[in-house]
Amino acid sequence: FNVPKAVNEPVKAYAVGSKEREAVANAYKEMWNSKIEVPLYIGDQEIKTGNTRNMSAPHDHQHIVGTYHLAEKSHITQAIDNALETRKKWAAISWENRAAIFLKAAELIAGPYRAKINAATMIAQSKTIHQAEIDAACELIDFLRFNVEYMTQIYKEQPNSDSSTWNRLEHRPLEGFIYAITPFNFTAIAANLPASAAMMGNVVVWKPSDSQVFSAKVIIDIFKEAGLPNGVINVVFGDAIMITDTILASPDFAGIHFTGSTHVFKDIWAKIGNNIDTYKTYPRIVGETGGKDFIIAHPSANAKQVTTGITRGAFEFQGQKCSAASRVYIPQSLWPAVKNQLETDLKSMKMGSPEDMSNFITAVIHEGSFDKLTSYIDQAKKDADAEVIFGGNYDKSKGYFIEPTVILTTNPKYTTMETELFGPVVTIYVYEDAKWSETLKLVDETSEYALTGAVFSTDRFAIEEATVALQNCAGNFYINDKPTGAVVGCQPFGGARASGTNDKAGSVLNLLRWVSPRTIKETF
Ligand code: GLU
Repeated sequence: FNVPKAVNEPVKAYAVGSKEREAVANAYKEMWNSKIEVPLYIGDQEIKTGNTRNMSAPHDHQHIVGTYHLAEKSHITQAIDNALETRKKWAAISWENRAAIFLKAAELIAGPYRAKINAATMIAQSKTIHQAEIDAACELIDFLRFNVEYMTQIYKEQPNSDSSTWNRLEHRPLEGFIYAITPFNFTAIAANLPASAAMMGNVVVWKPSDSQVFSAKVIIDIFKEAGLPNGVINVVFGDAIMITDTILASPDFAGIHFTGSTHVFKDIWAKIGNNIDTYKTYPRIVGETGGKDFIIAHPSANAKQVTTGITRGAFEFQGQKCSAASRVYIPQSLWPAVKNQLETDLKSMKMGSPEDMSNFITAVIHEGSFDKLTSYIDQAKKDADAEVIFGGNYDKSKGYFIEPTVILTTNPKYTTMETELFGPVVTIYVYEDAKWSETLKLVDETSEYALTGAVFSTDRFAIEEATVALQNCAGNFYINDKPTGAVVGCQPFGGARASGTNDKAGSVLNLLRWVSPRTIKETF
């Protein structure tokens, strides 16, 4: 069984008048009023607990899209038991059979479910059609296809043998179950965290973000249609602390695949440490967490290119990416040109509902996020060492809308140069041209996180200097490009320091975390 060589799914353009645009518009309308009810998925059962929460749309928060059912502690125990029961069969089937399921899921998303998964992501996560297409369609398809290709490499690669010994590596799944905690900001990440562990023969209990339940349901339906047996990925919703504590207390907890905030990941790590004697095996801890991602421009940089890097890097998906550009260092000589271009670019960015497909920016995810972001904007309006130079207006009467906001600061350690905000706010510090090398040092010293970063320059020596000086500041480093938009198979994604364990999503490195190899030596 030679799986097809993975290729990146082409991004559709959704041009005005195109069939694909019409299909998404129809799916959006249909799903908007679907009043869908999402159960827990535990083993063979779809459980409606009766204790429900509403799903709403961030750009129209009074509109209820549907409801989802919340788990009690007993459901979590039941999910663990079902997963472990399913493990007996799932771990034993051939990897080719597992691969077939996930390849089929990729084809279902590429074809019949593309409009639906995009529409769900547009409605409940407030992504524009272009953001949804890149995430929920293309990136998710890529994760599935490339991971299948990587898994074949893992299973096929064997150590040396000779005429008297036969050496084998058996890539067994972990002994127990995996817990996947996933974020709202990428439908692809939400699906990939449980799927990549399951692909390697593991069983999973998956807790999606409360703000991503709508597209999580589409994902689980697709996986089932592709032939994923019940009980391999069990889906639970509800109180995060109760769910996590119940799972981490199980002796069969074998690993966590996490994307979310730094403090939650650290809490989980500490809890795992406290429970360490409970477990049958050392749990695998894999997490991608926060970021405070930078752009630094050299005096030789092209101002237009830098500005595009800022506007796309900071404001696409309302800046709600761990990778989003949120602190920018511009040399004095380049600043007037960058500022002018920013003004022009920002004027053309339309804000509004994703239903109007000409909008570039929509609403932030929920009220908590809106309130946090606007408090930083208000503070910057008051502080002597900061100034809001573009945007800064907001309105939550209908949806959680915040204008793309640019703060200019004279203090390179100003709060918004250091704190992760996770929204459409970027802070710029203008440095003296002669202080290029010193500014590189400053970026390094203030990089508590190390997820992504970008340097803009046309000077090869400067590029080399920045690449070396900032080597520990970003797991994904970009030269003359925005620091977002990693493509599976091209730029494996992940960072270190407070940004995570850097186990590169969409790579062999990540899949290897979900196996426990047994070496077998046989002497003839
Ligand atoms: N992989 C995404 C990117 O390169 C970011 C993922 C995230 O925000 O967690 O932009």
